[in-house]
Amino acid sequence: MHFASDNSGPALPQVLAALTKANEGYAMGYGADDEMAQVTAKIREIFEAPEAAVHLVSTGTTANSLALATLCNPWETIFCSHVAHIHEDECNAPEFYTGGAKLTMATAPGVDKMTPDSLHAAIAGEETRGVHGPQRGPVSITQVTERGTVYTLKELTALCDVAKSFDCPVHLDGARFTNAMVALGCTAAEMTWKAGVDAVSFGGTKNGCMGVEAVIFFDPKHAWEFELRRKRGGHLFSKHRYLSAQMLGYLDDNTWVEAATRANANAAHLAGGLRAIEGVTFAHPPQANMLFVNLPRGTHKRLFAAGATYHLWGGDLEGEDDSEMLTARFVCDWSLSKELIDQFLDLAAG
Ligand SMILES: *Cc1c(COP(=O)(O)O)cnc(C)c1O
Repeated sequence: MHFASDNSGPALPQVLAALTKANEGYAMGYGADDEMAQVTAKIREIFEAPEAAVHLVSTGTTANSLALATLCNPWETIFCSHVAHIHEDECNAPEFYTGGAKLTMATAPGVDKMTPDSLHAAIAGEETRGVHGPQRGPVSITQVTERGTVYTLKELTALCDVAKSFDCPVHLDGARFTNAMVALGCTAAEMTWKAGVDAVSFGGTKNGCMGVEAVIFFDPKHAWEFELRRKRGGHLFSKHRYLSAQMLGYLDDNTWVEAATRANANAAHLAGGLRAIEGVTFAHPPQANMLFVNLPRGTHKRLFAAGATYHLWGGDLEGEDDSEMLTARFVCDWSLSKELIDQFLDLAAG
């Protein structure tokens, strides 16, 4: 009963098979491998973007930081939500890789989604002090958000429109890109460049790869700068074929979409079961594969004692009052079984 994160689960067998297949003979290093040419072609096809620049890195923090560094000058500021991964969970890597750009919050504290109004106010509030203050830089949108919610295509387009009205480029943190795409029932192109997104961190790891993310620029003019930044930042893989092979195994035969479909279905099954338990409420509406659920401390104690693994979102398990509600984060990946989820639900129901 493992709901800690979608990076706790195993890698997809298709990804491991692709690695084994790539592990034969010799291949050129540093991205000149045949598999990388296939990855680029495949991603351009999926995104309906024949010119797109495609690069692979091994972590999402690298993908976000190097993508933003490429879109941003050191004297600029990046607009994002208060709970954005780039703000809360990357140990200032975006600030480091951009050479000191700052982040400007475009939501109130704790709020997952930017709105056109909150983004407009945040951007309009910067670049008002001439040489003394930060200049306006990129907007970074997380999809699925860090609270498990999903921007609709209309919401995404409206945010991009605001960004464009200030000439700010748009970056999408898609660590859970495919979960959002499946939830919306849209295409990769609709969720990105058709809405106005310029660059994407396209997640692989959380949806079943071993450790690979793609950075995609729809305008290939960014390709060379990204190459240089990736190498300078120490993130150009020498035996690069092992990154490419993972991404190929992930994208071939619709594996990526099927994995996210299963992850989202697992989360929906879990959400349905929890909703049926009296007193259980959701701190955020579950829309993809991540749930934020309010349960009494006594229920948490029972679940943890039975071996369930997940994170409490604030609050202390050791408190006295067993009826006090504490929020849990449950994340589902493709590999969870319905049987284990049902076992968990039986325990939660008490
Ligand atoms: C997991 C995650 C990332 C990437 O994190 P890494 O640990 O660096 O791979 C980026 N953005 C979001 C929203 C995430 O959840």
